[in-house]
Amino acid sequence: MTSGKLLYEGKGKRIYSTERDDEVIMFYKDEATAFDGAKKGIIKDKGIANNRISALLYTMLARHGIPTHLVKTLDERHVVVKKLEMLSVEVVVRNRIAGGLAKRLGREEGGILTSPVIELYYKNDALHDPMISESLAVAMGWATEAQLRDMQSQALKINQVLQNFFDSIGIILVDFKLEFGLYQGKLLLGDEISPDGCRLWDKSSLEKIDKDRFRRDLGGEEEAYQEVLRRIEARLSD
Ligand code: C5P
Repeated sequence: MTSGKLLYEGKGKRIYSTERDDEVIMFYKDEATAFDGAKKGIIKDKGIANNRISALLYTMLARHGIPTHLVKTLDERHVVVKKLEMLSVEVVVRNRIAGGLAKRLGREEGGILTSPVIELYYKNDALHDPMISESLAVAMGWATEAQLRDMQSQALKINQVLQNFFDSIGIILVDFKLEFGLYQGKLLLGDEISPDGCRLWDKSSLEKIDKDRFRRDLGGEEEAYQEVLRRIEARLSD
């Protein structure tokens, strides 16, 4: 399959048409952004790592009954996915206090939440992705009540599967962001799951192995993405 017309360029990926109306090709870039695009950089081979990490995790999720947009990996940076009508609501799942939540509550990072927390955000860079309520999402027509219920129950199931898996490779899944879309009226998990949109901490050292290394100028971001990929591949080839 060859990639066709550029349909959309996002911060981390490009989307191309295919010869099929219901499928598109995603191309993973090395460009990294933070703070809604205010900070920009390159993380060498990030696109290759994220493409591989996301495909492995989505395949695992599909085996656990989570419907995703993944069709097939084409090469190091290209993957065929079902073309979704993306919802404007982003779902964040948190297992520990970190990032935006730590700031909002004035707490140290790392505190364990006794049960997973789900938050909804309106996907809009210009507005810095504001947090929204379920009733606002419905009132604005961004998602129906049924879609929000479905997204949240899938998000909790995804959290359970991923938390167990990451734990088995010595990684704490602190929090992560999901995006969903509609395919022939059905809700599917879209976008990607990778160190770009997850907080991942090494279980023994609590070292960050995710995009926070870039956001916070900690250095070693290239090695961090490769380390996450290495551990996932090692576990899955057991
Ligand atoms: O910044 P905050 O603490 O709200 O982020 C929670 C989680 O969601 C983090 O893992 C972050 O990487 C992810 N996120 C994202 N894209 C956004 C907002 C948050 O990937 N626009």
